[in-house]
Amino acid sequence: MLETKDDEVRVEPISFVEEIVKSDLAEGKNGGRMQTRFPPEPNGYLHIGHAKAIAIDFGLAKKYGGVCNLRMDDTNPQKEDTEYVEAIKRDIEWLGFKWGDVLYASDYFQQLWDLAVELIKQGKAYVDEQTSEQIAEQKGTPTQPGVNSPYRDRPVEESLRLFEEMNSGQMEPGRMVLRAKIDMANPNMHFRDPIMYRVLNLPHWRTGHKWNAYPMYDYTHGQCDYWEGVTHSICTLEFVSHRPLYDLFVDWAKQVGGDDQPLDDNRPRQIEFNKLNLTHILLSKRNLLVLVKEGIVNGWDDPRMPTICGFRRRGYSPEGILSFIDKIGYTKFDALNQMSLFESAVRDDLNKRAQRVSAVVDPVKLIITNFPEDKLETYQAVNNPENEADGTHEIEFSRELWIEREDFMEDAPAKFFRLGPGKEVRLKNSYIIRCPEENCCKKDADGNITEIYAEFIPETKTGEANANMKIKGKTIHWVSCRHCIEAEVRNYDRLWMVENPRDEIAKYSDEHGGVKGIEAMRPFLNPDSLEVRKAYVEKWLTTRKPLDYLQFQRIGYYNVDPDSTPEHLIFNRTVGLRDNWKK
Ligand code: ATP
Ligand code: MG
Repeated sequence: MLETKDDEVRVEPISFVEEIVKSDLAEGKNGGRMQTRFPPEPNGYLHIGHAKAIAIDFGLAKKYGGVCNLRMDDTNPQKEDTEYVEAIKRDIEWLGFKWGDVLYASDYFQQLWDLAVELIKQGKAYVDEQTSEQIAEQKGTPTQPGVNSPYRDRPVEESLRLFEEMNSGQMEPGRMVLRAKIDMANPNMHFRDPIMYRVLNLPHWRTGHKWNAYPMYDYTHGQCDYWEGVTHSICTLEFVSHRPLYDLFVDWAKQVGGDDQPLDDNRPRQIEFNKLNLTHILLSKRNLLVLVKEGIVNGWDDPRMPTICGFRRRGYSPEGILSFIDKIGYTKFDALNQMSLFESAVRDDLNKRAQRVSAVVDPVKLIITNFPEDKLETYQAVNNPENEADGTHEIEFSRELWIEREDFMEDAPAKFFRLGPGKEVRLKNSYIIRCPEENCCKKDADGNITEIYAEFIPETKTGEANANMKIKGKTIHWVSCRHCIEAEVRNYDRLWMVENPRDEIAKYSDEHGGVKGIEAMRPFLNPDSLEVRKAYVEKWLTTRKPLDYLQFQRIGYYNVDPDSTPEHLIFNRTVGLRDNWKK
């Protein structure tokens, strides 16, 4: 269903959203046109949930020859910023999608204002001078009708005059609001005279001081869609109950605009799908902002963040992320997807693209006692067995090597197929080696092993005719002490210790007098989500660029951190080679 960067169309099961689009097109609705929009509020960076919305908004438009505009939903001036606008664009492009125009809800502020004035004149809106508490009290409940505001039937002229005053900059915020006059007894609570405008008296980063009263989301979104020519307004399930109001405001905009076409033709259609939610992850920009502001993570692109830029820095590829989104699909039911499913999708993807290298993360020295001290051998190591075109690179072999501490055991049980007294292993790309039965290692005063000794078997050199000597031992990785480089390795663990932080935080807040923000989050944060280690890595890694995809053989997938330099190499662990979420 979706198309990737390389324009290779992937064939996926068709979602219910796509079925709707197809049948609308077949019926000739909207003159056979197809147009979508992706509408983020620029109050933070995009996260993995947005990737799901982006994939369908942009993906369907592309597939059906339509256009998807990027529309910033910038109706809350106090929280929004151009930094976020730029970040949002960067992340969409990185995912491989192209927008038609970049638009802003604020582009429509004048049109929305003029429409509101017209609606007041038609008796469809009024200025209410009650407090927000009073308005809330009169709302009723889904089973109990609300109560009309005493200002509901005030003269049109009065509402027009007060509406102007609301925007004058002199009106105190909260003193009055503009409400739509719909139906205070409607079973749909959104119809009980919803607020259209509130006074903020704040400058807007795009419109400056022109506006002091700002439109509400519900009064903005549908008309923007309609004026822009959006045919399918795809959003998430929490908007299902807003849909009748969305449709009503569009009807009003059409009528005021003199459009007498049948109301069900030539208009945007709102379609809702289930939000993405993953175990051990907390989404929503406002929550993520708390983690950034409180210094729990090192910025929006910290590799522990579920943001697109965090995932990029962590080493997930756009293709891997999108293949996961294809796998989970779009439904009408809320779900909590397993992180292990996400990781399995990105692992499959990284297996195809990661360059295989050697890195020793918990080193101990191995001395090949029968290999001359000044001798050097070089081999060609295959970069990626999944893709021959990736070629090979040179590695160095010498008498002293670093190997993983866990690849040696002094009292090894029979089933330990790595190094130990009298045991044999193959060194990747090199020889089979054998430890002596006696004196196979040296220890310090505390009993820690400092050196391991082994002899190489010359006729077993990889690639040579007699190399295939059968041994019980495994193949282990290594780097040459003289030729390797020290590097910083950052290993990440889950940021949240609980499966569903969103629900746990809400519950904790309820049970603790409504505490909010970091106070409600702290009990669930993993204090050990970042481990920094020193490792020895092969020299070729100094030639890798930031964000390059790597596999540290036998250890995991890693990538080059953007702060890495050839003098100070830094690698991020993307994901282990195997699923370890069950433990
Ligand atoms: P905020 O905390 O500011 O509300 P948000 O994470 O909900 O942030 P929005 O800017 O409101 O982000 O969302 C932009 C678009 O992305 C909307 O169409 C919204 O429905 C969609 N979206 C947001 N979160 C998810 C999610 N978890 N899964 C799928 N789509 C999402
Ligand atoms: Mg939102």
